[in-house]
This record gives sequence, structure tokens and C-alpha cells, in this order.
Amino acid sequence: MIFLLFTFGIIFLAFGYIFFRLYKKLKRIKERTDAIISNLTDGLLMYDEKNVITLLNSQAEKILKINAKDVLNKQIKPEFFKTEPKFLTLTQALFPFLAAFAKKVGPETETYPKIHEIILQAPNDMILQTATLPVYNNNKEVIGFMKIIRDITREKLVEKTKSEFIMVAAHQLRTPLSAIKWIFRMLMEGDVGKLTPEQISFLKKGDDATQRSINLVSDLLDVAKMEEGRFGYSFEQANIIDIISSALEIAKPEAKERSVKLIFNHSNIELPIIKVDTEHLKQAVQNLLDNAIRYNLPGGEVVVSVEKEDKFLKISIKDKGIGIAPGQLDRIFTKFFRAENALRLQTEGSGLGLYIVKNIIKRHGGDIWFKSEEGKGSIFIFTIPIKEELIPKEQDFEESIKGF
Ligand code: ADP
Repeated sequence: MIFLLFTFGIIFLAFGYIFFRLYKKLKRIKERTDAIISNLTDGLLMYDEKNVITLLNSQAEKILKINAKDVLNKQIKPEFFKTEPKFLTLTQALFPFLAAFAKKVGPETETYPKIHEIILQAPNDMILQTATLPVYNNNKEVIGFMKIIRDITREKLVEKTKSEFIMVAAHQLRTPLSAIKWIFRMLMEGDVGKLTPEQISFLKKGDDATQRSINLVSDLLDVAKMEEGRFGYSFEQANIIDIISSALEIAKPEAKERSVKLIFNHSNIELPIIKVDTEHLKQAVQNLLDNAIRYNLPGGEVVVSVEKEDKFLKISIKDKGIGIAPGQLDRIFTKFFRAENALRLQTEGSGLGLYIVKNIIKRHGGDIWFKSEEGKGSIFIFTIPIKEELIPKEQDFEESIKGF
């Protein structure tokens, strides 16, 4: 009997010791996880499917201006926005539609993480970026959500200041550049006396360089305006054939100079009248044509085609030029990007053209993509919706399509 009690005692002590070690280990792991969570530089908020707050780190307390003890295990409802002023920021972070302005950033799909930029209602003048992710249990069932919250007010202010600086600088540069160009033209046309062919050739170089600077300044101004949401669209009924024909007319002299043939294929089918911003769409087509001519080879050709496909008009611009190397395909629509072969060819360019084109096409509710093979040529294809309903409403459109 004593022996049995002794054996049980030993077993009991052994289990007690094992449990004690396990408990200490778990405690250490929990302390470490808690330390990581509370020292995160971003705010972290966790809540279940009924919006009951289950975790909140100290950074989230700071950003959302709340005390963890006031919200932990509390169900947050949209109506708190009106009834509980101390939860004002928290309710807007949880329900972005309550904010003064909220937009979804990144892909337009329903996949996670869902990223929002939220401009908060007064008095908390702040811009937050929230990334929402589901939290799963072992059976892969959603048991709640996690929000990573960043205060991006300063970043946005710096971005705005940068855009404004570019806008002012570009505006100030455009006027004197136009005056210089006008003077070059006057001299070349012999308005102040007859010139020798050599003198005219020097003036032509000056005139070309001034035109390049004017183009760069215009591109910079357009991008700054787009990012400020001030590019200004005005939609009207138009015929796509007219828009492309007039862009082709403008491109003709450059094509002739580079011995590139321009071909316009528009099948005999009747194309519907569409609602577009004629000037901006013409600018997009002009940019694409300009690239197809400049990155072509002498004696090459550019073929423009239009067809109707489902709810869209599909326009393609095909060249047989230098093409784009596989490693650089995904950066083509990025601001200031110029591919290595284009830089080697050294035709002038800012790397802003396609960024502007993509923004214009997206504003019309269309899309743009391309296929290219280095040394063989490229085809850029874009779509424009036929029905007006497919054009995004101004407030829904993110003028700045960052992350291209
Ligand atoms: P830019 O032409 O002023 O450099 P873009 O934004 O219009 O700027 O084009 C970005 C880059 O994409 C170009 O520098 C070039 O490398 C590449 N690219 C654009 N269009 C073509 C084309 N049709 N063929 C080959 N490369 C092209």
C-alpha cells in the first residue's frame, strides 16, 4: 500500500514538474508574442465576425485614440459613430464607408488583404491606411479579422507637396520655353533677315531641344495633375475613327522623318458613337503612336486597328520595332521607366507616356495591355466601353493609379 502511494506520489510529482515546465514555456512564448505585438510600429486590431474587439496593441490605441480596456471584448457597431464620440476613429477604421473619404487601394478583386486609404472625419484630421486579413482556425474556417493600421498623414502631405511643387515648377517653365521656341521659329523663318543653311541647321537643333523640354514639362504637369485629381475630364459623344484619324495626322511628320509607314485598318462594320473625353483620348492614342514610331526600325510600319468586342471597342497599335525584353515587361507602365534597349537607342523620352495613357484609359472604364518580343515588335491594345454606364463615376475613380 505504502509502495503504491509512493509510486503515485512520484508519478504525480513527475507530471506536476512536466506541467510546470510546459506552463513556463507557454508563458515565455506568450510574453514574447505579446512583446512583438505591442512593439509593432503599426497598429494591430483583431476582432471576431460580430466585430467584438479581441486584441489591440498600444500603437493601435495611439492611432485610434482609445484605451484598450474601453474596447476589449466590446462589440463595435456603425451607429457608435454618432453616439460614442470616443470611438469615432475606431468606427471609421472598422467601417471605412463612414469616413469622409475612403478608397480601396490595389487590385480591384475581392481577395485579401483588403487595403483602404481612409480620410477621417473631423476633428481627427488624419489619413489612415488599413490592411484587413481574415484569421482562420485549424479547420480553415474564418474566426475573425485582423487589421493593420498605419497613420499615413505625413506621407500623404509630403506626396501632395511634391506634386504641388512639380505643378508650380512645370507651369513656370512652360511659358519661357514657349517664348524661346517662338523666337527660334521666327529666326528660322527669316523674320529678322535671311540666314545661311548652316545657321538654320543650328537653330533647328535649338528648336528641337526646346520642343523636347516642352514635352517633358507637359508630361510632368499632366502626371502631377492626375495625382492631385485635377486632370479634368469632360465627356462628350465622339467617333473613335475621327479621334484616331486626327492622332494619325499629327503623327505623320514624325513617321515620315523616320521612314515608318502608318496603316489604319478599320473594318467596314459600323462602329457605335461612344462617350469619351476626346482630347485626352486623342492624347493617349498619340502617345501610343509616338512610341510605335520612335521604337520602330527605319522602313518599319505601324498598324492601327479598331474592332467591336462585346461591350467594348478594342483598339490595337502594332509595330515591328525593337520590342521589350522579357525581364522588363512588368515595369512598362511604371512612372519614369525606360527599357534598356530604348535607352540604348537614345530616342528622347520621359518614361511618363504610358503611365499617362493607362490613367486616361482607366478613367474611361477601359483597360490596356500589350504583347512584345524583343527585336520583333510590340502590340499595345486598349479597350473603351461602348455603354456610358461602364464609365466610372468621378468620385469612384482613383486618379492616381499608383503601383502600376
Ligand atoms: P518614353 O517613350 O517617353 O520613354 P513611355 O512611358 O511612353 O515613355 O514608355 C516607357 C518605355 O516603354 C519606353 O521607354 C520603352 O522602353 C518602352 N516602350 C513603350 N512603347 C514601346 C514600343 N512600342 N516598343 C518598344 N518599347 C516600347
